[in-house]
Amino acid sequence: EDWLSMPKVELHAHLNGSVRDSTLLELASVLGEKGVIVFSDVEHVIRKNDRSLTEVFRLFDLIHILTTDHKVITRITKEVIEDFASENVVYLELRTTPKNNASIGMSKRSYLGAVLEGIKAVTAVDVAFRPHSSDVGSQKNSSLVNHTCSGSARKKIYVRILLSIDRRETTEAAMETVKLALEMRDLGVVGIDLSGNPIVGEWVTFFPALQFAREQGLYVTLHCGEVPNPKEIQAMLDFQPQRIGHACCFEEEEWKTLKSLSIPVEICLTSNIRTNTIPSLDVHHFADLYNAKHPLVICTDDSGVFSTSLSNEYNLAAAAFGLGKRELFQLARNSIDFVFADDGVKRELKEIVNSAEKKLD
Ligand code: 5GP
Repeated sequence: EDWLSMPKVELHAHLNGSVRDSTLLELASVLGEKGVIVFSDVEHVIRKNDRSLTEVFRLFDLIHILTTDHKVITRITKEVIEDFASENVVYLELRTTPKNNASIGMSKRSYLGAVLEGIKAVTAVDVAFRPHSSDVGSQKNSSLVNHTCSGSARKKIYVRILLSIDRRETTEAAMETVKLALEMRDLGVVGIDLSGNPIVGEWVTFFPALQFAREQGLYVTLHCGEVPNPKEIQAMLDFQPQRIGHACCFEEEEWKTLKSLSIPVEICLTSNIRTNTIPSLDVHHFADLYNAKHPLVICTDDSGVFSTSLSNEYNLAAAAFGLGKRELFQLARNSIDFVFADDGVKRELKEIVNSAEKKLD
């Protein structure tokens, strides 16, 4: 089946986890020559396929060394957007953790600046990223496919940014990220994510910043239940975020609460299997949630680190859970209800999915 051509929305993609292998290897070879790192060490980790959750976070520390400076952040942002667009992702929520790095003159603000530069640097497709400007589809006569004078169609992708709070951060650092998101709202930052190593940090540390984000009208999504931690899962569900990611280690009671609250779940199949969070697809909670008609969205998490793509994730879901084209179109269409964007954008996205589906007949 050709999931590549199907219009899709991606709602759970970490910038530094979505970098092409070829780019990471190129960056590693430059730093290897400078003597900053040992290239063969990096090559070994990058080419390795199965990683535990702990190893994944070690890999991120390594990737972050490779992507340290502003120019590289701009480059990977551009590439990641182009890669998603090339497989017909028509709406992308890209999340990333703003970083302070005094030694190279980087602040969280300048980091985000480099990300926004990357969005503007995209040339392969048209990018709509400012929620309140004329590039949004709610504006009359705009359509996701722009027809140029020559009659050739140019692809267009909506991009929204979520700022991640890393679980290693303090309350103050988390608050700084939320304030930055508020400052950059008009430039496409729409929400806050909580991520990072799930065995590090405590809910009480992040709660004030997340609460503030919500009071200010930012959307919030939380990595929830990647490890068994009933107290935290309960606290996160009580918070009632707009979405959660993963939900792998839930118990009976937690499923009940989740379902009664109808909080949409971002499902990352390959990621869960590669990190051994879920032993195999035939016991994955996707099936139960799908059958219960619980809101869910198929996502990649880290397409670079886990060598996957959104098309591949749809393919996996189709094969593992016996879903046909109609069902997956329906799933893609339903995902649109959970995007952190306004109704005009949602309407336009639904039209795109509908018209692609009509071509199936
Ligand atoms: P960045 O935010 O630096 O652009 O993307 C990489 C970061 O995303 C990682 O350092 C980590 O904090 C977060 N991340 C990526 N994948 C996962 C995941 O599967 N689980 C969690 N909890 N965090 C992740």
